[in-house]
Amino acid sequence: MPARRQANGSSESIDNYLKAILTLGGPQEIRVTSTALAERLSVAPASITNMLQKLAAAERPLVEYERHRGVRLSSAGKKRALEVVRHHRLIETFLYQVLDYPIEEVHEEAERLEHFISERFEERIAAKLGHPQIDPHGHFIPTMEGHMPQQASIRLTEVLAGGTFVIHSVDDRDARTLRELEANGIKPGAKLKLKPRTPTEACSVNIGRSAKPFDLSRAMAADIRIVPVEKN
Ligand SMILES: [Zn+2]
Repeated sequence: MPARRQANGSSESIDNYLKAILTLGGPQEIRVTSTALAERLSVAPASITNMLQKLAAAERPLVEYERHRGVRLSSAGKKRALEVVRHHRLIETFLYQVLDYPIEEVHEEAERLEHFISERFEERIAAKLGHPQIDPHGHFIPTMEGHMPQQASIRLTEVLAGGTFVIHSVDDRDARTLRELEANGIKPGAKLKLKPRTPTEACSVNIGRSAKPFDLSRAMAADIRIVPVEKN
Protein backbone atom coordinates (compact mmCIF):
# COMPACT_ATOMS: atom_id res chain seq x y z
CA MET A 1 0.00 0.00 0.00
CA PRO A 2 1.86 3.14 -1.12
CA ALA A 3 1.28 5.97 1.29
CA ARG A 4 2.25 9.59 1.14
CA ARG A 5 5.25 10.54 3.23
CA GLN A 6 4.82 13.60 5.34
CA ALA A 7 5.74 14.77 8.79
CA ASN A 8 4.03 12.49 11.30
CA GLY A 9 1.93 10.93 8.53
CA SER A 10 4.41 8.57 6.93
CA SER A 11 3.38 4.99 6.31
CA GLU A 12 5.83 3.89 9.03
CA SER A 13 4.21 6.13 11.55
CA ILE A 14 0.72 4.95 10.53
CA ASP A 15 1.86 1.33 10.86
CA ASN A 16 3.15 2.05 14.36
CA TYR A 17 -0.19 3.50 15.42
CA LEU A 18 -2.04 0.47 14.06
CA LYS A 19 0.33 -1.94 15.79
CA ALA A 20 0.03 -0.11 19.10
CA ILE A 21 -3.79 -0.15 18.93
CA LEU A 22 -3.71 -3.88 18.11
CA THR A 23 -1.45 -4.64 21.08
CA LEU A 24 -3.14 -2.39 23.62
CA GLY A 25 -6.63 -3.49 22.55
CA GLY A 26 -5.70 -7.13 23.19
CA PRO A 27 -7.65 -10.19 22.07
CA GLN A 28 -10.96 -8.59 23.12
CA GLU A 29 -10.22 -5.59 20.91
CA ILE A 30 -11.24 -3.14 23.60
CA ARG A 31 -11.15 0.56 22.79
CA VAL A 32 -7.77 2.14 23.45
CA THR A 33 -7.51 5.58 25.07
CA SER A 34 -5.43 8.37 23.55
CA THR A 35 -3.49 8.54 26.81
CA ALA A 36 -2.45 4.89 26.57
CA LEU A 37 -1.46 5.39 22.93
CA ALA A 38 0.49 8.55 23.74
CA GLU A 39 2.41 6.65 26.39
CA ARG A 40 3.11 3.63 24.21
CA LEU A 41 4.27 5.70 21.23
CA SER A 42 5.96 8.47 23.24
CA VAL A 43 4.00 11.07 21.30
CA ALA A 44 2.18 14.18 22.60
CA PRO A 45 -1.56 13.63 23.15
CA ALA A 46 -2.43 16.41 20.68
CA SER A 47 -0.57 14.63 17.89
CA ILE A 48 -2.38 11.41 18.76
CA THR A 49 -5.80 13.04 18.36
CA ASN A 50 -4.69 14.55 15.09
CA MET A 51 -3.49 11.29 13.65
CA LEU A 52 -6.51 9.29 14.80
CA GLN A 53 -8.85 11.80 13.17
CA LYS A 54 -6.90 11.45 9.95
CA LEU A 55 -6.94 7.66 10.04
CA ALA A 56 -10.68 7.62 10.77
CA ALA A 57 -11.48 10.05 7.97
CA ALA A 58 -9.52 8.22 5.26
CA GLU A 59 -11.40 6.90 2.25
CA ARG A 60 -10.89 3.41 3.67
CA PRO A 61 -10.84 4.20 7.39
CA LEU A 62 -8.15 2.34 9.32
CA VAL A 63 -9.67 3.06 12.74
CA GLU A 64 -12.99 3.80 14.41
CA TYR A 65 -12.45 6.82 16.57
CA GLU A 66 -14.66 8.91 18.78
CA ARG A 67 -13.19 11.49 21.04
CA HIS A 68 -13.52 10.50 24.72
CA ARG A 69 -14.47 6.94 23.75
CA GLY A 70 -11.09 5.89 22.46
CA VAL A 71 -10.14 4.09 19.31
CA ARG A 72 -10.19 0.64 17.78
CA LEU A 73 -9.09 -0.80 14.47
CA SER A 74 -11.43 -1.10 11.48
CA SER A 75 -11.19 -4.39 9.60
CA ALA A 76 -8.82 -2.75 7.10
CA GLY A 77 -6.72 -1.38 9.96
CA LYS A 78 -6.58 -4.76 11.69
CA LYS A 79 -5.51 -6.45 8.47
CA ARG A 80 -2.66 -3.99 8.02
CA ALA A 81 -1.61 -4.18 11.68
CA LEU A 82 -1.42 -7.98 11.55
CA GLU A 83 0.59 -7.80 8.35
CA VAL A 84 3.13 -5.49 9.97
CA VAL A 85 3.29 -7.73 13.04
CA ARG A 86 3.87 -10.72 10.75
CA HIS A 87 6.69 -8.86 9.01
CA HIS A 88 8.19 -7.84 12.34
CA ARG A 89 8.19 -11.31 13.84
CA LEU A 90 9.40 -13.05 10.68
CA ILE A 91 12.26 -10.57 10.38
CA GLU A 92 13.18 -11.11 14.04
CA THR A 93 13.21 -14.87 13.53
CA PHE A 94 15.31 -14.53 10.39
CA LEU A 95 17.84 -12.22 12.03
CA TYR A 96 18.15 -14.51 15.03
CA GLN A 97 18.22 -17.90 13.32
CA VAL A 98 19.91 -17.18 10.02
CA LEU A 99 22.00 -14.07 10.60
CA ASP A 100 22.94 -14.92 14.22
CA TYR A 101 21.94 -11.55 15.64
CA PRO A 102 22.04 -11.36 19.46
CA ILE A 103 18.51 -11.69 20.84
CA GLU A 104 18.44 -8.14 22.19
CA GLU A 105 19.23 -6.58 18.80
CA VAL A 106 16.55 -8.17 16.62
CA HIS A 107 13.66 -5.97 17.74
CA GLU A 108 15.26 -2.62 16.87
CA GLU A 109 16.24 -3.89 13.44
CA ALA A 110 12.79 -5.36 12.81
CA GLU A 111 11.16 -2.07 13.85
CA ARG A 112 12.91 -0.42 10.93
CA LEU A 113 12.54 -3.14 8.30
CA GLU A 114 8.96 -4.24 8.98
CA HIS A 115 7.44 -1.36 7.02
CA PHE A 116 9.34 -1.91 3.84
CA ILE A 117 9.60 -5.57 2.88
CA SER A 118 7.61 -6.79 -0.12
CA GLU A 119 5.15 -9.67 -0.14
CA ARG A 120 7.69 -11.68 -2.11
CA PHE A 121 10.42 -11.05 0.42
CA GLU A 122 8.06 -11.98 3.26
CA GLU A 123 7.18 -15.25 1.52
CA ARG A 124 10.83 -16.11 0.91
CA ILE A 125 11.76 -15.51 4.52
CA ALA A 126 8.83 -17.61 5.76
CA ALA A 127 9.72 -20.45 3.39
CA LYS A 128 13.43 -20.32 4.30
CA LEU A 129 12.52 -20.61 8.00
CA GLY A 130 10.03 -23.44 7.40
CA HIS A 131 6.95 -21.28 8.06
CA PRO A 132 7.57 -20.71 11.79
CA GLN A 133 4.65 -20.09 14.13
CA ILE A 134 6.52 -18.32 16.90
CA ASP A 135 9.33 -15.78 16.96
CA PRO A 136 12.46 -15.93 19.16
CA HIS A 137 10.66 -14.05 21.95
CA GLY A 138 7.87 -16.66 22.03
CA HIS A 139 5.25 -14.52 20.28
CA PHE A 140 2.88 -15.96 17.71
CA ILE A 141 3.53 -14.96 14.12
CA PRO A 142 0.26 -14.09 12.33
CA THR A 143 -0.40 -16.22 9.24
CA MET A 144 -0.45 -14.83 5.68
CA GLU A 145 -4.25 -14.71 6.03
CA GLY A 146 -3.99 -12.61 9.19
CA HIS A 147 -4.83 -15.24 11.80
CA MET A 148 -2.99 -15.16 15.08
CA PRO A 149 -3.61 -17.70 17.89
CA GLN A 150 -4.52 -16.14 21.21
CA GLN A 151 -1.91 -16.11 23.89
CA ALA A 152 -3.11 -18.16 26.87
CA SER A 153 -0.16 -17.16 29.05
CA ILE A 154 -0.15 -15.08 32.23
CA ARG A 155 2.14 -12.28 33.31
CA LEU A 156 4.63 -13.56 35.88
CA THR A 157 3.96 -10.63 38.20
CA GLU A 158 0.30 -11.69 38.46
CA VAL A 159 1.18 -15.02 40.09
CA LEU A 160 1.44 -14.92 43.89
CA ALA A 161 0.82 -18.57 44.73
CA GLY A 162 4.03 -19.91 43.23
CA GLY A 163 4.43 -23.16 41.30
CA THR A 164 6.20 -24.61 38.29
CA PHE A 165 5.86 -22.87 34.97
CA VAL A 166 7.25 -22.78 31.45
CA ILE A 167 8.23 -19.43 30.02
CA HIS A 168 5.89 -18.68 27.16
CA SER A 169 7.26 -15.37 25.94
CA VAL A 170 9.29 -12.34 26.90
CA ASP A 171 8.67 -8.73 25.91
CA ASP A 172 10.91 -7.73 23.02
CA ARG A 173 11.10 -3.98 23.49
CA ASP A 174 13.69 -3.41 26.19
CA ALA A 175 17.09 -4.54 24.92
CA ARG A 176 18.82 -4.27 28.29
CA THR A 177 16.24 -6.36 30.10
CA LEU A 178 16.26 -8.91 27.28
CA ARG A 179 20.02 -9.27 27.52
CA GLU A 180 19.78 -9.79 31.28
CA LEU A 181 17.02 -12.36 30.88
CA GLU A 182 18.96 -14.28 28.24
CA ALA A 183 22.15 -14.18 30.33
CA ASN A 184 20.23 -15.85 33.15
CA GLY A 185 18.71 -18.55 30.96
CA ILE A 186 15.28 -16.93 30.97
CA LYS A 187 13.87 -17.55 27.51
CA PRO A 188 10.80 -19.13 25.91
CA GLY A 189 10.57 -22.82 26.69
CA ALA A 190 12.70 -22.64 29.85
CA LYS A 191 11.24 -24.11 33.05
CA LEU A 192 10.94 -21.96 36.12
CA LYS A 193 9.93 -22.54 39.75
CA LEU A 194 8.29 -19.57 41.34
CA LYS A 195 8.25 -19.08 45.13
CA PRO A 196 4.99 -17.99 46.74
CA ARG A 197 5.16 -14.33 47.66
CA THR A 198 3.15 -11.32 48.84
CA PRO A 199 2.42 -8.52 46.33
CA THR A 200 5.23 -6.38 47.70
CA GLU A 201 7.91 -9.08 47.71
CA ALA A 202 10.31 -9.56 44.80
CA CYS A 203 9.73 -12.51 42.45
CA SER A 204 12.21 -15.20 43.38
CA VAL A 205 12.68 -18.01 40.86
CA ASN A 206 14.70 -21.13 40.17
CA ILE A 207 15.49 -21.44 36.51
CA GLY A 208 15.81 -24.85 34.87
CA ARG A 209 17.53 -27.28 37.23
CA SER A 210 19.31 -24.55 39.15
CA ALA A 211 19.01 -24.93 42.91
CA LYS A 212 20.05 -21.34 43.46
CA PRO A 213 17.12 -18.94 43.71
CA PHE A 214 17.31 -15.81 41.65
CA ASP A 215 15.52 -12.53 42.42
CA LEU A 216 14.04 -10.96 39.32
CA SER A 217 14.21 -7.20 39.01
CA ARG A 218 10.87 -5.42 38.56
CA ALA A 219 11.59 -4.82 34.85
CA MET A 220 12.54 -8.42 34.25
CA ALA A 221 9.51 -9.85 36.04
CA ALA A 222 7.09 -7.56 34.20
CA ASP A 223 8.42 -8.67 30.81
CA ILE A 224 7.92 -12.40 31.32
CA ARG A 225 4.77 -14.39 30.43
CA ILE A 226 4.39 -17.94 31.69
CA VAL A 227 2.11 -21.00 31.50
CA PRO A 228 1.63 -23.45 34.38
CA VAL A 229 3.08 -26.95 34.14
CA GLU A 230 0.62 -29.72 35.01
CA LYS A 231 1.84 -31.76 37.99
CA ASN A 232 1.94 -35.53 37.60
ZN1 LIG B 1 10.12 -7.13 18.27
